[in-house]
Amino acid sequence: MHKKVDLLVIGAGSAGRYAARSAASLGKSVLLVEKGPFGGLCILKGCMPSKALLRPAHVFHLMKHRLKDLGLSVDGSVKADIPAIVRMKNAMIREMAEDARKTIEATPGITLLTGSFSFTGPQAGLLGDTPVHFDKAVIATGSRVHVPAIPGLEEEWILTSDDVLEMEEIPSSTLVLGGGPVGLELGQYLSCLGSDVTLADTNQNWHPQTDPQLAREYLGTLASRGLNIHLGIRAEKFDRGAGEKPFFSFHADGKNHKVPFDRVLLATGRRPDTSGLNLPAAQVQTTRHGHIQVDAFLRTSNHSIFAAGDVTGILPVLNLATFHGEMAGRNAVLPVPVTVREPVVPVAIFTDPEYARAGLTESMAQARRIPVKTGRISFSDLGKAIVYRETEGGLKIVIHAKSREILGVELFGPGASDLVHTVATAMHFHATIDQYQEILHIHPTFSEIFKYLADDMTEAI
Ligand SMILES: Cc1cc2nc3c(=O)[nH]c(=O)nc-3n(C[C@H](O)[C@H](O)[C@H](O)COP(=O)(O)OP(=O)(O)OC[C@H]3O[C@@H](n4cnc5c(N)ncnc54)[C@H](O)[C@@H]3O)c2cc1C
Repeated sequence: MHKKVDLLVIGAGSAGRYAARSAASLGKSVLLVEKGPFGGLCILKGCMPSKALLRPAHVFHLMKHRLKDLGLSVDGSVKADIPAIVRMKNAMIREMAEDARKTIEATPGITLLTGSFSFTGPQAGLLGDTPVHFDKAVIATGSRVHVPAIPGLEEEWILTSDDVLEMEEIPSSTLVLGGGPVGLELGQYLSCLGSDVTLADTNQNWHPQTDPQLAREYLGTLASRGLNIHLGIRAEKFDRGAGEKPFFSFHADGKNHKVPFDRVLLATGRRPDTSGLNLPAAQVQTTRHGHIQVDAFLRTSNHSIFAAGDVTGILPVLNLATFHGEMAGRNAVLPVPVTVREPVVPVAIFTDPEYARAGLTESMAQARRIPVKTGRISFSDLGKAIVYRETEGGLKIVIHAKSREILGVELFGPGASDLVHTVATAMHFHATIDQYQEILHIHPTFSEIFKYLADDMTEAI
């Protein structure tokens, strides 16, 4: 069988599915190819399964440790049935993957085939043994788990995020290497379910772009809810030791630490999945980290081939993967591609409490030499937070010093991943803080916190 298509989309994850659907909606014939189980990272091993596990873990932790705050108690013991939680998660993601497959199969113009694709030329390749010729292509092959070589770290100790999502037994102690979203979320998952978790990161300032005070308060709250967190670790060393458990020693906060562990969760980042694509045959260039380099049209160095999603290394989050997927699919089949606008990209970490951010932080604005003013408020000043006993949280807004346009928001607190959209929406429409201040908010709500801060920043009250 020999195939010739208007658009070939390689990878049926989120970016690939959006690319395929946007090109098909413009009347083009699209071949979407997928080498693995259908669904992509978000549904199968990323956003959805991790949140499906975090929710019961957070409820369990609240019932065990925070019911007293609400004047409640449990008569008997609260138990977490981990195999049941994992079974529920698996049933949910099976259904989500199936729904996504049905949507693709029902879309006129898209043919979905299973197999690993590899380029043989600038507009040709092989799907398994089948030659495929395309007018245009979108590479949306995502990322893969990466296990870095760390001296002394033995294979039998290692857990990846994929492993944690399937685990039916919680290790009694876990070392988490890496303080990004995956390390914090899965570290807190294990901690809520009873593992003694130590999280270590070589960065001194957590994420250098974040507000130091907010970061300190956020990590402090996670620590108060069970995570042992060490930043800026140095002189780290694994040792099998003579005792029952191996240990990890390091220097941080002016002290030497020695942490025994059962397992080590590696949350030090993923790698672009370009293995087997044979990019040189297609004349597609990569960055020094192996990501596919794209221009403002999401075009690669081969102008017949576009790329979107985690494989580009721009920002590995779902909302950008789908936005860029849609734009890459459209640009690939338009007679003249359009410049892809830079959207406001809200991002979140689904710990309890959550962290979220959109737009510029103060230090990002300073690096770009943008003059800014900032405002800060704590959830402990908010009525709803007080009556709900959820006062741990804080918020910072960054505005342009002259135009007063809202440039960024960063917060942690209850429901931060939902709350952030209030300000992200205002930012999408280039609203000023003064315009935001005019919006009435329901009382008492958590989102009211933005209104109070806007009141402060406009000195309206
Ligand atoms: C534990 C975890 C939790 C996460 N949680 C969140 C979250 O809460 N929110 C959020 O925004 N983001 C989250 N992410 C990130 C998010 O999942 C990704 O940014 C997003 O799914 C990337 O989509 P993609 O389409 O680029 O890649 P993928 O979904 O990985 O799709 C790529 C597809 O290409 C296929 N493929 C690869 N090579 C070939 C080939 N040669 N031929 C054919 N097919 C091929 C792969 O099998 C795969 O299905 C999380 C990630 C992880 C690991």
